[in-house]
Amino acid sequence: MKSQQLYVAYGTDAGQLASDLLQAANVASELSSDMHVLLKPNLVMAREASSGITTHPELAEGVIRFLLEAGVRKITIAESSWTGGDTGRAFRICGYSRLEEEYGRFGVRLLDLKKDPVQSLNVRGDRFKVFRSILEADYLVNLPVLKGHGATKLTCALKNLKGCIPDSEKRRYHAEGLHKPIALLNTIIRQDLVVVDGLCGDPSSETGGNPLEMERVILGKDPVLVDSYVAELMGYSPEGIRHIYLAARNGVGVTDTASARIREFGKPRFRNIPRRDSSRLKRLQAYVSERQACSACHGSTIYALQRLEESGKLALLEDKICLGQGYRGMRMSGLGIGACTRGFSKFLDGCPPTARGIYQFLASSGGDRSGA
Ligand code: SF4
Repeated sequence: MKSQQLYVAYGTDAGQLASDLLQAANVASELSSDMHVLLKPNLVMAREASSGITTHPELAEGVIRFLLEAGVRKITIAESSWTGGDTGRAFRICGYSRLEEEYGRFGVRLLDLKKDPVQSLNVRGDRFKVFRSILEADYLVNLPVLKGHGATKLTCALKNLKGCIPDSEKRRYHAEGLHKPIALLNTIIRQDLVVVDGLCGDPSSETGGNPLEMERVILGKDPVLVDSYVAELMGYSPEGIRHIYLAARNGVGVTDTASARIREFGKPRFRNIPRRDSSRLKRLQAYVSERQACSACHGSTIYALQRLEESGKLALLEDKICLGQGYRGMRMSGLGIGACTRGFSKFLDGCPPTARGIYQFLASSGGDRSGA
């Protein structure tokens, strides 16, 4: 069974956070100089990471520097952008060409998987096609983005492997509703490590371009556990995301975040939260009164409000919900989110709380968990 440990670091320096977590998880002990390590970012389309769609190149760079220091001499960054998409263009626009220019002399190269040979495999009676380089790598590091998805609710470690299959397969997966083939694909491709870019993914769409700051990087070895943790950060129950549930049933990993050992590094910090043009985010933000709220707390709250809206419970909120360091030490009535609002008559503890916890707290009008 894969390690049931998760590592979470808060901040905005993706490369440093990734490097710190790789150290903390002692990943170097699993590497050797003769290994071919393959990095799989999410470059679904040619949009910069600040759009909330793609993996920050700085995160990949942090991983590359760590691998080089560990003695690895063959590193491939591999991707196949969405159906019909130009991966070479995505590499350029998303900042990955620079990585090849800068680190190519140390053995780092880009691979447009759309040009890679395809291998066919039989899985439980179905034919699956996977790019051969993915199967031949000695060590696969998955670098997904924490973000929402129109069809599967969220996309993270498990679904990011859809970039490892040819366009014809991508079409088939969509025709089959995505969840089942994604769960099966994860029985074919073994991910050795997942480093999640949780800086600013789009909360509702994998291509929408409306980033929401969450300001964290998450590392784990079990992709099901990582996705389960991410599901809770986004206000879902892991079992409520069908491909997570199916992957767990297929033996890819476990969903039990309550039993996982979660090590956190650093603390969420206050930063002015950028105002977004998205009408949906603006509408949800209108339910929030924030005073110096950290992005981690604010992002979780927006995710929770999104879940409330989807379940038709947003109308339960009669007053604005309060969060942020500006509420510390204040005695107030109303609903507070996070440890900073411990002086409120009803508050949800945590620093930061998960969106799932916030959703449950708000859905029960705060009564059940007040003062917890
Ligand atoms: S509880 Fe306070 S300090 Fe902690 S994340 Fe929320 S706003 Fe920041």
